[in-house]
Amino acid sequence: MLSIVPAVLYTAEVSGSHGATFISENVKTQMGYRPEDFLSAPDFWADHIHPDDKSRVFEALPKLFEQGHHVHEYRFQHKNGDYRWMRDELKLSYDEGGNPRKIIGYWIDVTEKKLADLDLEQRIEDRTAEVRKSEQLLRQNEAKLKLAARTARLGYWHFDEVSEEYLDISDELANIFGYTSEEYLGRFKSFEHDMKLVHPDDLAAVYKAYEAGIPNGIDYRVFHRDGSVRYVREISQSIRDYAGNLVESIGTLQDITDHQLALDALGRSEKHYSTLFNQLPIGVQEQDYSSIKKTVDKLRKQGVNDIKEYLEANPSLLREMVGGIRITGVNKALIKIHRDDAIENYIRDEEDISLWWNGQWVEYFAAEIGAFSRSSEKFDAECVDIRSDNSEFNVRLISSVVSGYEDTWERVISIAEDITEKKQKEVVLIEAMARAEKASRAKSEFLSSMSHELRTPMNAILGFAQILGRNREGQTLNEKQRNYVEHILHSGEHLVELIDQVLELSKIEAGQLSINFEHISVQNVIDESLVLIRTLAQQNNIEILDQIDRSELPVLWTDATRLKQILLNLLTNAVKYNRDKGIVTLSCNEIPERMLRISVDDTGIGIAKDKQHNLFTPFERLGREGGAIGGTGIGLAITRQVIELLGGDIDFRSQEGKGSTFWIDIPIDVVQATSGDRPQFIPSTPE
Ligand code: ADP
Repeated sequence: MLSIVPAVLYTAEVSGSHGATFISENVKTQMGYRPEDFLSAPDFWADHIHPDDKSRVFEALPKLFEQGHHVHEYRFQHKNGDYRWMRDELKLSYDEGGNPRKIIGYWIDVTEKKLADLDLEQRIEDRTAEVRKSEQLLRQNEAKLKLAARTARLGYWHFDEVSEEYLDISDELANIFGYTSEEYLGRFKSFEHDMKLVHPDDLAAVYKAYEAGIPNGIDYRVFHRDGSVRYVREISQSIRDYAGNLVESIGTLQDITDHQLALDALGRSEKHYSTLFNQLPIGVQEQDYSSIKKTVDKLRKQGVNDIKEYLEANPSLLREMVGGIRITGVNKALIKIHRDDAIENYIRDEEDISLWWNGQWVEYFAAEIGAFSRSSEKFDAECVDIRSDNSEFNVRLISSVVSGYEDTWERVISIAEDITEKKQKEVVLIEAMARAEKASRAKSEFLSSMSHELRTPMNAILGFAQILGRNREGQTLNEKQRNYVEHILHSGEHLVELIDQVLELSKIEAGQLSINFEHISVQNVIDESLVLIRTLAQQNNIEILDQIDRSELPVLWTDATRLKQILLNLLTNAVKYNRDKGIVTLSCNEIPERMLRISVDDTGIGIAKDKQHNLFTPFERLGREGGAIGGTGIGLAITRQVIELLGGDIDFRSQEGKGSTFWIDIPIDVVQATSGDRPQFIPSTPE
């Protein structure tokens, strides 16, 4: 192609500007310019060289003067603006003195060839990159294969049956036994050597399998280098020559220890399960709900959201669905509950839905299937079922989809407990409770009315006795008689106190004690109680120590009157059961869970350990009956009931001969007075 395109011939001066002195006419056809364009402007040629090639072109010129000729290629701008690849072949002509005279140049457009060359270069480069990539891929695949073999613990071997030598083994094969392939090949050169690795109990089976050929594989035990026993699965194939002689064999060996151990564990757990299943004293049934699940899925697709509601509204569809349940397992206890003689009879009767289907089961199965479709963990219900002898019994049924079968409901387990007896007992118990409640109410009513009835004549007795006692003027009563009147008064007051307390206790027991919760200042309650107790304390020669820091007291949410009643009971007891010149200490502190603890401590006679358990029993005076210290034995019983009604608690600690500490814990209100301030009263209904 080049030969038929005539080159542009040009000449240029050696010295000076390099401008052309002559250029052939065909420059017009080749480059679009007229010769004058070159000849009139010395820089015309240089200006049209591609900027990237310019420096290369000028660096080449000295070579021309050195060697007398030079060929180079560069891009030159065509008149149409495109750059064309030009091959410039330069020669020097000399004068007689051997000095360079002129540069003669042949200029040929080689763009087509150049592009073809460049394309080839690119293609070679691409191809090299491709080869490199596939080599890399190959290496990656090899690594993956190795990893897969390692993960699957799968090795292979290739054995020459004629020379009885290994042709090849994979690294993983050796690794299964704990060796590198070199170590393995060094130690176990022959078949006989290999057999040393096989567990003696499996040796006969392995020999037999080799004789028969083991394309389907054989599982056996081998010894690892560390002495442990491993399970392996071997599959091998024989390669024979045309005459049928064995020449080579090839095979794989996989370490299946983990798999085998898991299988063993599974076997054991299945055994456990079946033992449990059959020995359980409670009825168990396993069934296949997969046909129900399919219908539920279909309903869901149709846009049914509430499956339970839908099934209740479509009992005939539900009946059909329940008819599709297949019973896959039943234990003995269930047969016993149903009084059936054989499992087969039970299953036959259960699967014949027409024998037992009724409205109760519509409700039961709609709810159970509804619960399963909401992925509830279990469904629990009580029903009335019929036994094989047609008698009815109460049964509690707990069913659930076995985990792992949530997508298919192929395994559903139901547990059935015969609760007939329990139900009967429950009825008896409920009746007994109702009777007891009625009796207790009657007792409370009786007590309360009796207390009222007793109070009226008692008031008369006390009133007249007081008049008698005061009647000193006429001295109608002698000393002895006045003593009698004192007795009447004393016993009468005791009787009134007893009546009041019995009335209060009966009110509490009848749930009629009124409690008014409000935000209260505990300080007021404490101060009022102390005023009331001081007189009794003085009479008994007892000192009251008040250790309560008033600035730290919180606001309580309680009933002030009831709280005062409680505090007074504890303080009165602490004074009454004290010793001469004894001390009663009152203290209080906040305890966790936002409770205030008020403690009453005394230095008195204490309570014997063996009597302490009866402390809060009504009418129990713990051996003080008939003693010098008066009392009814009801105070602490009432106190405990009231503090519990207030949401608090009471407890004590006592040592005989040393003294006792009683404390009550009462809830603190959520809104608190700031420390140092007086307690704030917060109205219970904000305006
Ligand atoms: P009462 O004081 O009217 O007998 P309580 O119910 O208040 O009835 O107390 C019951 C019994 O517990 C008392 O009879 C007494 O034996 C004993 N007891 C109560 N408080 C104290 C105390 N602080 N020290 C010793 N014994 C006490």
